[in-house]
Amino acid sequence: MTISWQLLGDPGRDNALLARVDSGQGVERLLFDCGEGCLSALSHAEILAINHLFFSHLHMDHLGGFDSLFRRTYNRLSPPNRIWGPPETTRILHHRFQGFLYNLHHRQTGTWRVTDIFPDCQKTARFELSEAFEILHEEETAAKGSLVLETERYTVEAFALDHNTPSLGYLLREKPRWNVDPARMQAMGLPPGAWVKALKDPLSGQTELEIAGRRYDLTALREALLIETPGDSLAYLTDFRMDTQTRESLAERLKGCQTVVCESQYRHADRELAAKNYHLTATDAAQLALEAEVGALILFHLSDRYTRAERQELLREAQAIFPNTRFPDHWQI
Ligand SMILES: [Zn+2]
Ligand SMILES: [Zn+2]
Repeated sequence: MTISWQLLGDPGRDNALLARVDSGQGVERLLFDCGEGCLSALSHAEILAINHLFFSHLHMDHLGGFDSLFRRTYNRLSPPNRIWGPPETTRILHHRFQGFLYNLHHRQTGTWRVTDIFPDCQKTARFELSEAFEILHEEETAAKGSLVLETERYTVEAFALDHNTPSLGYLLREKPRWNVDPARMQAMGLPPGAWVKALKDPLSGQTELEIAGRRYDLTALREALLIETPGDSLAYLTDFRMDTQTRESLAERLKGCQTVVCESQYRHADRELAAKNYHLTATDAAQLALEAEVGALILFHLSDRYTRAERQELLREAQAIFPNTRFPDHWQI
């Protein structure tokens, strides 16, 4: 597995999700939300290495830990400082950036880009430490549908959910991996060597390969030797109300997703409260996991109203519908 994840924060407190995408050559870190105290589980080096911060929405319990992140990274040069979120993320983050005194900033450098994700476009703003983050530089408005980020290794899709304000759900997908079938390689009498790397690299630009003094057509060789392994997938869903239409469209979008990390603010008995507050119950989350045929369901973002016994009951309600449901391991419930 090359996407691994770590749920941050405790039950009944603020939470966040850190995903690590390991390409073999390096690890990229994607943080989803940044509630109060959530970063305390991470080392300083790991915080400095976070590549992207994705907000579901900007309620206090998802943003309260941002100052801790910004304290460590406000003047970071590498990796680039990147934040994504629903409409108004730029406006609210601009206030956060400016919520400190800067007086030696003219000599300092640090660039931040914040993107508001709309259903049909993205609006990015750039902010500079050297300007004490005063000026909002508009950069681009690109229409990309639900795909908000694509790298060589993975994609991130975002989709708006109804929290009486847009709350973005995210789907992180690793791109398929290509591996050489050793049995086929042996059957063709091909020796191992550096040519395997060129074979697996779709961007190599080569049309032929020379192996042990013989020339091979690269396309034909790829078809003969490579086997596709589907990439890992991880979804992050929080703070929204479930109705039939939402469940059906999410089930389609998340079909077969390996791991879904999903809020479960309320027990089924409190479903009226859940609907009133635009949140899910454990059974809502489990029903979605069942219909989407996902691999595993991880419940988080529980209301602080529940005792330990009630949390156990909440989990059992979900497991009755979707057996492979659990809480993050470190919660020890
Ligand atoms: Zn909220
Ligand atoms: Zn929340």
